[in-house]
Amino acid sequence: MNLAGKIAVVTGGSRGIGRAICLRLAKMGAKVVINYVSRPEAAEETKAQVAALGAECVVLKFDVANSSEVQDAFKQITDECGRIDILVCNAGITRDGLLARMKEEDWDEVMAVNLKGTFNCVKAGCRPMMKQRWGRIIIITSVVGFAGNAGQVNYSAAKAGLVGLTRSTARELASRSITVNCVAPGYIETDMTSELPEAVKEKILAEIPLGILGQPEDIAGAVTYLASDDARYVTGQAIHVNGGMFMG
Ligand code: NDP
Repeated sequence: MNLAGKIAVVTGGSRGIGRAICLRLAKMGAKVVINYVSRPEAAEETKAQVAALGAECVVLKFDVANSSEVQDAFKQITDECGRIDILVCNAGITRDGLLARMKEEDWDEVMAVNLKGTFNCVKAGCRPMMKQRWGRIIIITSVVGFAGNAGQVNYSAAKAGLVGLTRSTARELASRSITVNCVAPGYIETDMTSELPEAVKEKILAEIPLGILGQPEDIAGAVTYLASDDARYVTGQAIHVNGGMFMG
């Protein structure tokens, strides 16, 4: 797989799965735009690791949930880089709680970042791709968007929404040789999952046929495949990377 000369934008590239995606795309030769919202030091660490691979990268702060920030950021990227080839919508948050007790703001915030944030980025990012008549859009959804999960009605609804967004956008953009796919991670060891109690982790592990928790690099591999020419005939799909815990 060779992504030399490609410009890739990774939302939430500062940590966890996003960082692993930035590193893998950089290893394949892409120039990477590393987005973050709240942790500049984490974004700088990703930048240092990408730079150590000898790849070009820039760090760019914007809140995916804020449409004007997103529009300004994508304009800046196209002005400076001339194009956007690969867009990975990875930024995401959780605000877990049982439905009966869930606060309205926890619903709204998760929708704003995970679902509307992806809409904002896909809308802004597809414009240069349409002009180029080539692009790869990869959206990070979740196993819970397919299987559901008690305590995550907001998050699983947003992630299920991303599957519909992926398929509809794939139909709209296919005539311009732009593919749109999603990757659905299972349980991956990152900051997002580190705070789960040990007992919950053990329970999840018991439901994973491969018997191990996933690593950010497992997701980066699927993303890199979808970004590559090998996946030119794949669009509107969801790749499940979950150790077998859900077989969709
Ligand atoms: P982390 O919590 O480790 O990292 C989240 C990333 O998203 C950070 O880079 C953070 O930036 C960024 N981010 C959060 N809110 C915004 C925002 N409003 N605008 C821009 N960036 C934002 O998460 P993971 O790496 O675990 O998850 C990455 C993606 O994978 C998410 O979409 C998540 O839902 C999904 N996923 C994760 C699973 C897992 O088991 N870990 C399972 C299934 C799906 P900053 O550093 O500045 O805060």
